[in-house]
Amino acid sequence: MKQSSDKKTNTDSAKKGKPKQPGGGYNINLGYILLFTTLLLFYIFSNPVAVTKEITWQEFETSMLSQHEVAKIVVVNKEVAEIYIKEESLTDSKHQWINDKAINYKTGPHYAIQIGSVESFENKMAMAQQDFSTEDKVEVSYQNRIDFWNIVPWLLPLLFLVLFWGFTLRRMRTGGTSNPLFNFGKSSPQLTEKGHKSKVSFDDIAGLKEAKAEVIEVVDFLKHPEHYTKLGAKIPKGVMLVGPPGTGKTLMAKAVAGEAGVPFFSMSGSEFVEMFVGVGASRVRDLFRRAKEKAPSIIFIDEIDAVGRSRGKINAFQANDERESTLNQLLTELDGFGPNTGVIVLAATNRPDVLDKALLRPGRFDRHIYLELPNKQERIEIFGVHIRDLKLSKNVNVQELGALSPGFSGADIANICNEAALIAARKKKEEVEQEDFMEARDRVVGGLERKSKIISAKEKEIVAHHEAGHAVASWHLKNVDSLVKVSIIPRGKSLGSAWYLPEERQIVTRAQFVDQICASLGGRAAEEIIFNEVSSGALDDLEKVTKQAYTMVAYYGLDKEIGPISYYDSTGQNERMFGKPYSENMAKLIDTEVQDLVHGCYNRTKKLLLEHRSELEELAQLLLKKEIVEKDDLEKIMGKRAIAELEGD
Ligand code: ADP
Repeated sequence: MKQSSDKKTNTDSAKKGKPKQPGGGYNINLGYILLFTTLLLFYIFSNPVAVTKEITWQEFETSMLSQHEVAKIVVVNKEVAEIYIKEESLTDSKHQWINDKAINYKTGPHYAIQIGSVESFENKMAMAQQDFSTEDKVEVSYQNRIDFWNIVPWLLPLLFLVLFWGFTLRRMRTGGTSNPLFNFGKSSPQLTEKGHKSKVSFDDIAGLKEAKAEVIEVVDFLKHPEHYTKLGAKIPKGVMLVGPPGTGKTLMAKAVAGEAGVPFFSMSGSEFVEMFVGVGASRVRDLFRRAKEKAPSIIFIDEIDAVGRSRGKINAFQANDERESTLNQLLTELDGFGPNTGVIVLAATNRPDVLDKALLRPGRFDRHIYLELPNKQERIEIFGVHIRDLKLSKNVNVQELGALSPGFSGADIANICNEAALIAARKKKEEVEQEDFMEARDRVVGGLERKSKIISAKEKEIVAHHEAGHAVASWHLKNVDSLVKVSIIPRGKSLGSAWYLPEERQIVTRAQFVDQICASLGGRAAEEIIFNEVSSGALDDLEKVTKQAYTMVAYYGLDKEIGPISYYDSTGQNERMFGKPYSENMAKLIDTEVQDLVHGCYNRTKKLLLEHRSELEELAQLLLKKEIVEKDDLEKIMGKRAIAELEGD
């Protein structure tokens, strides 16, 4: 009785979803074990193992059957005959071995015989009772019994399974505690509660003025919705932050968390997608439910492309229903809450092109905030933010750092500042100096210097001429970024490198493209001129050149033969198609035009280098001597560059 009442209490509390006590799992297990034991004991005592003596047919026939002492016989499972002795005969001395306190003293069975087969037993019985009168004949009945001990071996594993299943279900229902295995239906967003001061504020975000203004407005929507609703405006539901990696999208969201003063749920898109089907959708539901409970609140989904990938675009060979149902749930949830419920969803992505169009339509993520790579002024400001905590030497020039890092993202700059401090620390300096920043910059761009890499003298000579070829070609080409230094110290995967200061431009002209291709081919052309032989060292250059030539011809419409036609597909539909969007003839023409273009550039570069062969050889020798040649030395060898150089923007 006690056990059953225990069990009731446990199920009750589970049903009501009461918070579990730490020992909850233990209690229910104990309940199961007690129940099981009770059943076992009950079974044993309700079917007591009788004190039964096994005898032979002979014994039975001569001393019992013929004496008319047998009350009845029960043949069990066609194997054993159980013999019940008449109560009055039990007092006979030969039955005295049965203790009159035995459970089966009166009821029986008292004896058992292994019968071989039922037929032979029946025959023997018939023979033995030949002379008996009808009343004296012993009644024989047949029974099939399941022996408890026979079923235990297969009952036990089954019981364990049931127990484990019950336990798992219960954990799932109540959300479980520490084991994530049982938690898969739940979302686990990081929650920044109201009033919690985040470490990041809008002051930590440099540049990005327009984006910041938009995001600040979002915060204002939540704080003072009446300003907007009284004019009949609907508060936007979703805001999508779009931009290349490292431009500060996550940082922006963290700042919102810090400044909004409302609960802030943040989760990464990839956390929705698990190997279990249906989990993603249930996590989305859970996240929105929790956010709505705490409204006004903000949900932030980082890397939303992990779930929001266009449904059509999911490759037919790796269909992912799970991702699709998660996305559908996300769309439903975005539709499901009204415009003024006080929940705003922020999402970040660097792949807006792969996102499902349904996600981006007004009414869902109706605001798009574009974050771009910072320009020179913004880079200077970002450096300003990240050097705040460094101990700087007086020679650090932030303006120069900003100017010398075109194309760098905020994350790159943060990385450079940290690397610079690490480099200075390694050199046991008291302060971080400008040269540490420059070294860190080179390292971030080109990878780690590998001075210890062993290169043969011959190879070094090839590398020196290769790099000198790039340098001389680019020096004399009008539309190539200005060269800052050339080095033949192995760095990362490359054996040598030429450092340029890229201009910040939004569009590239045909002449610029062509000059860039020529400069990239300078290395290989120099090898051919000097050694009359080419090497595999130009792989990276050739790859870059070929890609660039193809984009010029097939995408940008910069080829005269093909004309202003572009096969670029911003919707990404073509990616899924097996064929190309143009005919065989056009494919051939594209290939020929690309080949002509690259060959033309190569010949032009070779001609240019032949004209300046002496400079090429001089620079190569200087490189072999000094390993790094800076701009001053370059000017000494090749003269000042003819074109006006643009510094930064
Ligand atoms: P993503 O756009 O990929 O989400 P993050 O927001 O994670 O980029 O940026 C990574 C790091 O780069 C930030 O933690 C921050 O240190 C730095 N960063 C990026 N943009 C800026 C910025 N505008 N101002 C200051 N730091 C920035």
